Amino acid sequence: MSAARDRRPPADEPLGSITRPVVDDSATAPACFACGEDDLTRLRVALPDGRPAVFASCPGCEATAWFVVDGDGRALGPDGTARA
Ligand SMILES: [Zn+2]
Repeated sequence: MSAARDRRPPADEPLGSITRPVVDDSATAPACFACGEDDLTRLRVALPDGRPAVFASCPGCEATAWFVVDGDGRALGPDGTARA
């Protein structure tokens, strides 16, 4: 009866898509650059220059890094330059 009930969330945005990603980014961000931990928290994002990337956060040492999707596998710092 009320039009307000017709406001449905988009069907293509499943709940939990952040913690259970549709794509497996473990190949893009294989391991922590600092300690080698491979059980990382990975988030698909975009770098400031528009490249798709994976932001990885290490639960072990709390290091964070960016990895370019289909890139060379290097861990990048917050400004997009490679980590040493
Ligand atoms: Zn680590």
